[in-house]
Amino acid sequence: MSWSARIESALAARHAAGAFRSRQALSRPDARWLESAGQRWLNFAGNDYLGLSHHPAVISAWQQGAAAHGVGSTASSHVTGFNPAQAALEHALADWLGYPRALLFLSGFAANQAVITALMGKDDRVLADKLAHASLLEASALCPAQLRRFSHNSVASLAQRLQSPVSGETLIVTEGVFSMDGDSAPLADLHALSQQAGSWLLVDDAHGIGVLGEGGRGSCWQQGVRPELLIVTFGKAFGLSGAAILCSDAVADYLLQFARHLIYSTAMPPAQALALHRALQCVQQGDALRAQLHSNIAFFQQQLRQHGWTPPVSTTPIQPIIVGDNARTLALAARLRDRGYWVGAIRPPTVPPGTARLRITLSAAHTQADIRGLVEALSDAGE
Ligand SMILES: *Cc1c(COP(=O)(O)O)cnc(C)c1O
Repeated sequence: MSWSARIESALAARHAAGAFRSRQALSRPDARWLESAGQRWLNFAGNDYLGLSHHPAVISAWQQGAAAHGVGSTASSHVTGFNPAQAALEHALADWLGYPRALLFLSGFAANQAVITALMGKDDRVLADKLAHASLLEASALCPAQLRRFSHNSVASLAQRLQSPVSGETLIVTEGVFSMDGDSAPLADLHALSQQAGSWLLVDDAHGIGVLGEGGRGSCWQQGVRPELLIVTFGKAFGLSGAAILCSDAVADYLLQFARHLIYSTAMPPAQALALHRALQCVQQGDALRAQLHSNIAFFQQQLRQHGWTPPVSTTPIQPIIVGDNARTLALAARLRDRGYWVGAIRPPTVPPGTARLRITLSAAHTQADIRGLVEALSDAGE
């Protein structure tokens, strides 16, 4: 098959499955509104759970940082790209989350790829939750170690996987809050099992950090667990982008030698590190925002019940409505858009076949009227 035939046939298959993806340019997205070409929608698709993406203090930290330090970091962190703003942010994150060290990355995707490819050798194995994020599963599939998946949130299934022998080390990989389902992993049980087996546990808490636990410290803090490796990302509740790996001194030093995504990539601009540091303070002082968010989640579920729907089991800002069929999911999302509500239509392969869904996300920035309107629209569109 020629290159063009191969690409045409892949695109045709996506179209035929109702799984073709395209993007729409949206101006000024914030936690509440999206705009495009003079139209606007209430945003129930983003991950700006606390509304920090437009926080004046964070914006001004970025602006002042750019004025003082320029817009770029000029090189990777091993060359000239590491600076006091990043060092201070790493210290603050480590302190806050109770780890010896934190290392900054440009994205959660890069952090996950880096840590897994740097750690895993050919005799090792990754045991990953079936629903773990693409960045975790892809890294696990591409690294030389073997990858086995365990049933979603099943301690028994993990225990069974752990029974088969391996000559090297085992890394157990899961998420604090699952990105497409909004449910939480049983971290205490997973970690106990991991420790028993002499394995390490990696928790990607992209959707728990800032939202759950005392002071927004996330899923692990909430469940009283300190995994060997914790990944936090800044594209969700922090409202910016970037990520950090929290770990021991030895692992941090190891990653500084072997994490290629850190060594061979231009470091985070200092202005972004300053803005992130300010966002971290907003998160730390964000109890009122979290209370608003959790009351919005409860209100959404109560509204669903009032309309005769069974709410999702999730108690987090991710509230999926499973539809099943791709075309129906797209049609529902389109009808909601016509009524002024933007929700994500998530289809395979992002989610398992037959579980296409509306991924509704809530933010502290939403009002009760926004949420009531969404559920009414959902109820009308569903009929
Ligand atoms: C969003 C997400 C990532 C990727 O993080 P980015 O910073 O957006 O690259 C990784 N893991 C999970 C669970 C996510 O939801």
